[in-house]
Amino acid sequence: MPNLVDSHCHINFQDLASQLPDILTNAANAGVGYMLCVAVNIEDFPEIASLAEEHPHIFASVGVHPNAQNGEDPGAERLAELALKHNVVAIGETGLDYFRSEGNLDWQKKRFSEHIEAAKQTGCPLIIHTRSAADDTMDMLRAENAEKAGGVMHCFAEDWDIARQALDLGFYISFSGIVTFKNAEAIKEVARKAPPDRILVETDAPYLAPVPLRGKLNQPAYVQHTARHVAELRGVPYEQFAQETTDNFFRLFSKAERLSEGS
Ligand SMILES: [Zn+2]
Repeated sequence: MPNLVDSHCHINFQDLASQLPDILTNAANAGVGYMLCVAVNIEDFPEIASLAEEHPHIFASVGVHPNAQNGEDPGAERLAELALKHNVVAIGETGLDYFRSEGNLDWQKKRFSEHIEAAKQTGCPLIIHTRSAADDTMDMLRAENAEKAGGVMHCFAEDWDIARQALDLGFYISFSGIVTFKNAEAIKEVARKAPPDRILVETDAPYLAPVPLRGKLNQPAYVQHTARHVAELRGVPYEQFAQETTDNFFRLFSKAERLSEGS
């Protein structure tokens, strides 16, 4: 069975955390060998860090989601310090979201900028969230030389033009369950065209369960459905696609360590 990676999930969220042993068993049974549990604020980071500490196949990130409010807003130094732990492999999720926040969003840009700086300082790649803000997101990544840290466009939901810009910057593209949705033709096009050494797959669990489980509570095991769908779009065998995306994950997040065979 190929080893898949769920490159973006939130298994620390209550709905999943409350049934974690089952969630992890389901993932193992589905061939999902690794997962990256992504931070959305600083307050819950200790929980994520200890998950990664307890489970060698779970990795952590540190960061504050662009829509998060009322929590700590760390500067680059603080983020970099929290990223020192050996199993914290990425900075994020960070970026710009003009869909869920309104008004003057300079604070969001400032927050994003601190994350880019922390990524450059630590060499940990960025996990980018962008919604209704693709042009500004790409402009900031370019202006602040984010290519020095690299990263991934998580839950990709833009068109080929934005994908091309991200690829030109050396970034990876991660597909979530959205790519399996019927009306997602622009995203399917990106999934067909993206180079094989730049693709990741993810659940973004508990959100966005892929077809045929759309609408259910998502979990890392379900990433196999997204992977099968993208492999089919690309006309490559599932096993090959699983291997490629897993290799891509460990190339991008170079602090993440593969488990030795049989452990
Ligand atoms: Zn997320």
